Amino acid sequence: MSVEKVDTLVVGAGQAGIAMSEHLTNNGVSHLVLERERIAERWRTGRWDSLVANGPAWHDRFPNQEFKGVDPDGFPDKECVADYFVDYVKMIDAPVRCGVEVLSAKRNEGRAGFVVKTSDGTIEARNIVAATGAFQHPVIPPLVPESADITQIHSFNYRNPDQLPDGAVLVVGAGSSGAQIADELMRSGRKVYLSVGPHDRPPRSYRGRDFVWWLGVLGLWDVAAMKPGTEHVTISVSGAYGGKTIDFRNLASEGMTLVGMTQSYEDGTMHFAPDLAQNIAAGDANYLSMLKMADAYIDRNGLDLPEEPAAWDLGPAPECVTTPMLDLDLAKAGVSTILWATGFSQDFDWLEVDAFDDAGKPRHQRGVSSEPGIYFLGLPWQSRRGSTFIWGVWHDAKHVADHIATQRIYLSYRSPADCEKTDA
Ligand SMILES: Cc1cc2nc3c(=O)[nH]c(=O)nc-3n(C[C@H](O)[C@H](O)[C@H](O)COP(=O)(O)OP(=O)(O)OC[C@H]3O[C@@H](n4cnc5c(N)ncnc54)[C@H](O)[C@@H]3O)c2cc1C
Repeated sequence: MSVEKVDTLVVGAGQAGIAMSEHLTNNGVSHLVLERERIAERWRTGRWDSLVANGPAWHDRFPNQEFKGVDPDGFPDKECVADYFVDYVKMIDAPVRCGVEVLSAKRNEGRAGFVVKTSDGTIEARNIVAATGAFQHPVIPPLVPESADITQIHSFNYRNPDQLPDGAVLVVGAGSSGAQIADELMRSGRKVYLSVGPHDRPPRSYRGRDFVWWLGVLGLWDVAAMKPGTEHVTISVSGAYGGKTIDFRNLASEGMTLVGMTQSYEDGTMHFAPDLAQNIAAGDANYLSMLKMADAYIDRNGLDLPEEPAAWDLGPAPECVTTPMLDLDLAKAGVSTILWATGFSQDFDWLEVDAFDDAGKPRHQRGVSSEPGIYFLGLPWQSRRGSTFIWGVWHDAKHVADHIATQRIYLSYRSPADCEKTDA
């Protein structure tokens, strides 16, 4: 049976795989993109119904194409984001093959390249780019046994309030997903408890500029690595309802009960850490530091942007913060569902190469792995804070494609002696 050969195989046709394809084409590298489902599938079916982009349309996009029919300062809904990528694939004529899953990839013995088993046959590739996403497997901390008499669902599987059984909901995790879903559930008339851990919560906008603009001009998207000790600090922002700053005080004043980090579960009771006030204070400090940096930037550059004194007013701490609840008897409180907004893990089981550390994490420098010919794209902090965002992955893809193109130049080099051998 003949084996298909490609120079570079890109696995995954989310935004990472599509950006990769564009830059490979620009570098004249022939390639194939394999996608097990559809283009940008995660945006279609891996998110809740009402999700809109967290960043405005002018910003959360690739540089070469704007969103059609969306206010540049608006927040496109998830279908619109998925359609954007489908259109993009057409625009750049990317060689995407959908419905083909990559099952395994191994290095060839005694010669360059990799043999790749797919659901549609075998492919030989000189290079492989794993663009399979940072948010693959929903992670639920093993606190509440499956046998417990309560519905447990991860944010990945949440669609809308009607999907959940009647009753109150405990949302665990107050990053962008948890905070938005908790808000939606409360607006639908549910009693909601929200477990809030360490978080950053930038202002949605300040002095007439969205926070994405502030992060850009202040150089904060380009920060190369997380500060040690902040690995578990999530970012809480939202484009929902036109885009509003997430302030947990406001959610509490509308009826939500905030609790600290979820710690343990015993006999139907959930126990929370006594860290709520501390987490809220750290989130406030992050918010206020952004305002300060923005003011300093405006002064330094003599910008004429309207003052916004109201942004500095943080109302009083709500009672659930000053007198935090440490235990919640779920049945007594009428909680029928625990919604885990606790993040995702990656899955590279199919990639059987020497490119991972002892913890199974990709060993790489800006996506160029320790195994020659293997590349990663879309990893959190691949090169900077912006790496998993739509616009950020595009720039990382350029670096990876440039590396592949440079390697091709080395590999195509022939010394005079090589040429003589060939001529003989
Ligand atoms: C809830 C949520 C909201 C977000 N909102 C924003 C936002 O507003 N703005 C922003 O910039 N970013 C946002 N992000 C971050 C990021 O933009 C998205 O997660 C985006 O989907 C990541 O794109 P990706 O291409 O890296 O991965 P994915 O979109 O996950 O694409 C990977 C693709 O690989 C395919 N695949 C996986 N394994 C295989 C295999 N073995 N063989 C073949 N195909 C395979 C999958 O089917 C998938 O289509 C959000 C993330 C989440 C979770």
